[in-house]
Amino acid sequence: MNGATLFTNVRILDGTGTAPYAGEVLMRGNRIERVAPGNRALARTDCTVIDGAGATLMPGMVEAHTHFAWNDAETLQDIQRMPTEEHTLWTAGVAKVYLDHGFTSCVGAATAKPRLDVVVRNAINEGLIPGPRYLAASQEITVAGGLGDETLPHIPWPEFSFGVNVSGPEEMRRAVRLFLKYGVDSIKLNLSGDNLTPHAPAGTTWMSDEEVAVACREAKIRGKRVSAHARSADSVKQCVRHGIEVIYHASFTDTEALDLLESVKDKVFVAPGLSVIVKLLQEGARYGIPPERARAMGYEIELAAACESMKAMHKRGIRVLPGGDYGFAWAPHGTNAMDLEYFVKYFGYTPMEAIVATTKLGGEIMLKPGELGIIKQGALADLLLVDGDPLANLAILRDRARLLAIVKDGKFHKAPEVSARAGAGLVTA
Ligand SMILES: [Zn+2]
Repeated sequence: MNGATLFTNVRILDGTGTAPYAGEVLMRGNRIERVAPGNRALARTDCTVIDGAGATLMPGMVEAHTHFAWNDAETLQDIQRMPTEEHTLWTAGVAKVYLDHGFTSCVGAATAKPRLDVVVRNAINEGLIPGPRYLAASQEITVAGGLGDETLPHIPWPEFSFGVNVSGPEEMRRAVRLFLKYGVDSIKLNLSGDNLTPHAPAGTTWMSDEEVAVACREAKIRGKRVSAHARSADSVKQCVRHGIEVIYHASFTDTEALDLLESVKDKVFVAPGLSVIVKLLQEGARYGIPPERARAMGYEIELAAACESMKAMHKRGIRVLPGGDYGFAWAPHGTNAMDLEYFVKYFGYTPMEAIVATTKLGGEIMLKPGELGIIKQGALADLLLVDGDPLANLAILRDRARLLAIVKDGKFHKAPEVSARAGAGLVTA
């Protein structure tokens, strides 16, 4: 295809919350050059014309909490102990899986070895491997005994730990500076525990304010962001106090935490990442965690709390985004669009609100507000041509076969079939 492509006969779902309308979109280079309602509104000269046959054209989806390096295992140890060479190839392969499933952008939320995310991001940007736009994360930084400390008492070596253990501001400073040197876009702190690790459950908050402050300062002076694993109310408050803008989970909140979040709602993003909780409650038996054990681990309580918290945030206009913690056995990579359905089922979002959250708000968390995650003149051309109406059935977005075309940065990762199929025929003008 040449430089310009005209999508005609499409239903434009532009990501802003505007009701879909029939229209045409002209893409040139990596930008959307024109958007027009109606049919035959735009000139057909000098461009490739794709007749969408009524399919939906929407922005590419954004995953707000991605772990390319998680290897669809059941435990953190099984992720960590993959040898580096295999792990690099795995991580690179996973990047393509996201693009294959319509995620044209992903926010890295932690990686499993110091440079995995960075090298994969760089390889994508250099065109060596296919993958979405990607913001690379550090490993999880934690404290002894916290989530991510997988060292054994007799094997204290850092290579055996899922996360990087620090104790005190100076160790934190060193860890953060090393990751910044490697080129990460964000530093990940484990502020709370997690029910997956019974020794440090979700309600615990062990990292000190001194440690968090040092991490935030070091990241900020180099223009990078900090993200946090923050399930407890105390950890959510810690995020706001220290200016952490990407808050993962936030399952447990109280009025003070919600007030704090609302006071910075134009700065912070929350991504609840329900997949672990929902899947272990519903299907955990397959992975050795029967429902009674999942309940004993606190997942039922956490799910109820997360629903309340997200409903309250939604009402207060706090940006809550889909995505999170895919790459475990119970929620393998590629099934991430399930999160949109969780938003409707558990948080009371309309399908439109869920789509806006993964597109327009996704562009904002990718640091390209108003430019990414929406279809408008001048926006970046990350597009999905979808067979059907996602507003009527969000599950369509989980079905690769229904994604007729996938465009990232103006280039087709998946071009529509050139065929007589009743859907998107490709016609060259
Ligand atoms: Zn995570």
